[in-house]
Amino acid sequence: MSKAPRTCFDRVLPRDLFKFQRTFQPRRGGPSRAISPIGKLWMNGSTLHVKFMGGTAEQRAIAKEQANWWTAHANLKFEFDNSPSAEIRISFDANDGAWSYVGTDARGISPSEATMNLGFLDGGTTGHEFGHAIGLAHEHQNPEGGIQWNEQAVISALAGPPNFWSEATARHNVLSKYTANQVNGTAFDPASIMLYFFPAQWTTNGIATTQNEVLSATDKMFVAGAKMYPKTQPGVTGDVPRLTVNAARRTQESIGKAGEEDLFRFQVATGGRHIIDTKGPTDVVMKLFGPNSTTNVIAEDDDSGTATNARIVTDLIPGEYFVQVRHWNRAKGTGNYTIAVKKS
Ligand SMILES: [Zn+2]
Repeated sequence: MSKAPRTCFDRVLPRDLFKFQRTFQPRRGGPSRAISPIGKLWMNGSTLHVKFMGGTAEQRAIAKEQANWWTAHANLKFEFDNSPSAEIRISFDANDGAWSYVGTDARGISPSEATMNLGFLDGGTTGHEFGHAIGLAHEHQNPEGGIQWNEQAVISALAGPPNFWSEATARHNVLSKYTANQVNGTAFDPASIMLYFFPAQWTTNGIATTQNEVLSATDKMFVAGAKMYPKTQPGVTGDVPRLTVNAARRTQESIGKAGEEDLFRFQVATGGRHIIDTKGPTDVVMKLFGPNSTTNVIAEDDDSGTATNARIVTDLIPGEYFVQVRHWNRAKGTGNYTIAVKKS
């Protein structure tokens, strides 16, 4: 048996894994609907700190170089400062393959643990893993892909070295596709670095992929576009509109074009329970960051408010907070909404 290709494992949090396999149509109306991988983006303009947990000078240099493939196009910055509160923490365990958590999921991982492992650094592996770290999923799971898997061939190839995956893991990582409304993407891009290499025997329609070791033109365009991290908007480093706690009037806003991200900031002077919510006809997803941090995710919500509105109720200590609002359907959704912060 030929050796299976080395395959990346994008780590998905248990809560998403669970939802993912159980429901194809996202459940409406619940507070905890899976929004994976939609909703895992950092705020546009964020600076992400990177900490190495081991690794040689050479390995670290590759990581740094390939991470910056993305920042050349996306409105994000990496700082390789080994900060103890780094958002991205990289281990180099040769026995643990290559994997990464996706986007802001990394904030849910204990600070003593890695959020990315680079067990091998062949070709563009590191660039691929940093793609996950900024919120990208696997291109071969693109619902527009048209790949017809030979399931048995895939499962048995991945059960052997170097992956040793169970059937469930192989199904999750390779065979399960994201449903069209869970992802926000382009037409299938055979040159994407987010596609991993697989041989023609894995499919019944003879589709194979090449080992893509650099960002494709579409990868570059996509991360620089409105749905990801456009440099044409200053994002969180710019002039972010301010909300006032207990303001007399709600703030009017709109998702003017598909993919747009609205950012707000507010100051908490007195700690206590706060309610941040949206109202109106638009199905938005809201994420709260802080205190005094643009990357620390405190809470996120899709539909806990009235109808399809978002509502976060949480205890906040004094400090500055940031709210990110996007349409749930980033491919198509637009519309008006209002937003307010109240201290209860
Ligand atoms: Zn991957």
